[in-house]
Formats: sequence, structure tokens, C-alpha cells
Amino acid sequence: MKAVCWHGVGDMRVENVPDPTILNPQDAIIKVTTTCICGSDLHLMNGMVPGMVSGDIVGHEFMGEVVETGREVHKVAVGDRVVVPFLISCGRCEFCKKGLFSACDNTNPNAEVVAKLYGMGSSAGMFGYSHTFGGYAGGQAEYVRVPFADVGPMKIPQGLSDEKVVFLTDILPTAYQAAEFCGIERGDVVAVWGCGPVGLLAQTCARLLGAERIIAIDREPYRLDMAREHNLAETINICEDDVSERIIELTGGRGADRCIDAVGCEATGCSAGAFYDQIKVKVKLATDRIDALREAIYNCRKGGTVSIPGVYVGVADKFPIGAAFGKGLTFRMGQTHVQHYLEPLLERIERDEIDPTYIITHRAGLDDAPALYKTFRDKKDQCTKVVLSA
Ligand code: NAD
Ligand code: ZN
Repeated sequence: MKAVCWHGVGDMRVENVPDPTILNPQDAIIKVTTTCICGSDLHLMNGMVPGMVSGDIVGHEFMGEVVETGREVHKVAVGDRVVVPFLISCGRCEFCKKGLFSACDNTNPNAEVVAKLYGMGSSAGMFGYSHTFGGYAGGQAEYVRVPFADVGPMKIPQGLSDEKVVFLTDILPTAYQAAEFCGIERGDVVAVWGCGPVGLLAQTCARLLGAERIIAIDREPYRLDMAREHNLAETINICEDDVSERIIELTGGRGADRCIDAVGCEATGCSAGAFYDQIKVKVKLATDRIDALREAIYNCRKGGTVSIPGVYVGVADKFPIGAAFGKGLTFRMGQTHVQHYLEPLLERIERDEIDPTYIITHRAGLDDAPALYKTFRDKKDQCTKVVLSA
């Protein structure tokens, strides 16, 4: 079959690889119909995630048709159309039972490696996202093996197009969780750093959850335009404006009630702090660039919430712990517990309360993936979200 494979920093290739097979009675094989490129895939492409091996099949956002099931799979059957969560969860461990699916104890065979990095425990295994996260083949391919097929995949009713539902695999639940983690109260001002797919959908979800005003912050004018057009956001361009001055102006000096960092470890700001982070990372005194997170903390009001869907991987410098402590901020963050949000979000899509298709700018086939990875990374051709037909 055809698949997108990682061969080093900036080197993605479409190759012929062996078809996946059932390895465990709880597996299903999915024939992929639609798959997407995620901002998280850029972290892989840019070499931020440890444990990639040349030839690894990438892709964690996908949906398709069940074509084979192991003998212990009962909830999905051959012919079903399903969306598959990007993290793999067993459904039975202590963490899955609490709804903390991304903390699953049983799906990362390399959990000890993560435990060494993070002190204790490990997140769940993840499709197409390095051997650190389990070494599972990804879904930017014609076929993919899906372990624990009774726990992850959700059947999609007829009549809903792939494009309407494919973001349930990751970024829509991620955006919704980010907004939910804020604890939004009616009338709140929600500021969102990053107007990529996650940031834009987090703005959409924040509105749904009662935000009165949205402030959208980015460096790409075309993405800020999307935030204005689709989420009625007030916008700040980090390379043209002083972010804090603008937020002071927009909130009467109070700060935003809730701040969402939808940028993550590869933030590229225009401030002195951003420049400082770049140097620190270059000389290997830090791994993550946190200028968006720093701004989120400084611009949050007293007693407010900072929600972090943006991915961080290692250590960072000049984390403003004093500001966070002094203002009594609440932090929520982490990989998304996708399974927890699938059904309620599907219902919202069916009721037309959310139509996430507005973020799609590029549609292509698997063969075009390597070029589109670069278009998406470089923000060329007004690229916001790439959707691939397999
Ligand atoms: P993206 O790369 O398309 O978007 C990031 C945006 O941030 C870009 O528009 C960029 O211009 C902007 N940006 C860069 N530096 C900035 C700064 N200093 N201030 C403000 N904006 C800045 O990626 P995406 O697909 O939207 O994903 C965003 C983040 O969410 C990534 O880190 C991704 O890995 C993460 N993510 C997390 C989860 C999860 O489970 N928590 C799931 C999916 C994605
Ligand atoms: Zn993703």
C-alpha cells in the first residue's frame, strides 16, 4: 500500500510499504478514506519529537471503512464507516475508566522511556507519532491497523460527509477540551494565541460555551482574517502590535478572563522574549519556545485560567511562575481525551451547531502530502488545513 513516511527533518516521502495485518484479536483494519496533516505533524517533521525512525509511517488524524476485524471485536463490523481517535486507549485501566483516555496505562509499549523523561507514567500510545509514543504505524496511508477497536473508533451515520466529521479524530475534541478547560462563564473575554486549525476551532468552541468576546492572536494576516470572519474575533498581529498594550486596551486594563495557548513548543514571536527562546533552543539550553505561553500568563486577569492545548515536549526557560502565582491562575493542559468528547461533538455536528469545515483550505491525494507538509509548515498559499483523500 501507499503511505507517507518520515525520513528525517523536513523529509517526508510517499512510499510503498507492506499492508497492515491483524496482530491482536482486538484489532481492526481500516481502509482510510480521509486523513489530515496536523500542527503536531509539523513538530515531528521539524525533529521536535524524540524516537522517530527513518521509514516510520506518520499520520494520526484519519477515518475510513472497517475492512477486517479480530475475533474479539464486537462494536464495529466490516463495512462500518468510522472516525478513529488519534490516541490509542484500552478502555479498561484506571485512567480510561476515569475518562482520562490520553493517560491510558496499557497502550504505550515504550512507557518506560516516557517515564524517564516525565518523571512518572506515560501518555497513551499514538498513531504515527514516534516510538516514544508506542511506534504505531500512522493513518496517512491507504490502510491502518487500529488496536482496541471496540474502544476508539466511532461509527458515523450516513449522510454526513467525511469533511464534516474527520476533525473528530483530533482537532475538534482538542479545541473543545481547550475551551472546556477554561471554565468559561457568561460574558467572559477569551484570548486565543494561535489561529491555526486548533486555535480557530478553540475560538468557535469558546463561543459555543458562552464567551462574549474573543481575542485572536497570531502573526499570519490570513489566519487572523479567518478568526474575524468565522469567529467574530477581535485580532492582534504579534508582529505589528504590542500584544499586552492591545489586550489592556481591549479589556479596560483588566486582562482576558481565559487564555488559550494553541501555539505550543515552536512558538515564533516577534518579541525580545521570543528571540531569547530561539537562542536558548539553538544552543540546547532549552527544548521548547514558550513566548505564546508567557504572553498568555502575563495577559490573563487575576484568578483567570490558562488552558494549553498547544503541545510542549521538554523544558523551557523564563517561565513566569511569579506572575502565575501572584495572580492565582489556574492551569489546565494535556493531550486530548478524544473518546470522552466523540459522541457529544458528533451530536453538535448533526444539529449544525458546529461546522468545522471552514478551516479546510487544501484538498489533495496522498501523493501530494510531502509538498503540502511544506506548504502548511511555511504558511504558503494561505494554507490552514490540509485534508487528503487516501
Ligand atoms: P499550526 O502550526 O497550524 O498553528 C499554530 C499557529 O500559531 C500558527 O498560525 C502560527 O502562526 C501561530 N503562532 C506562532 N507563534 C506564535 C506566537 N508567539 N503567538 C501567537 N501565535 C503564534 O498548528 P495547529 O494544527 O493549529 O496546532 C496548534 C498546536 O496544538 C500544536 O502545538 C499542536 O501540536 C497542538 N495540538 C495539540 C493536541 C492535544 O491533544 N493537546 C492535539 C492537536 C494539536
Ligand atoms: Zn493532530
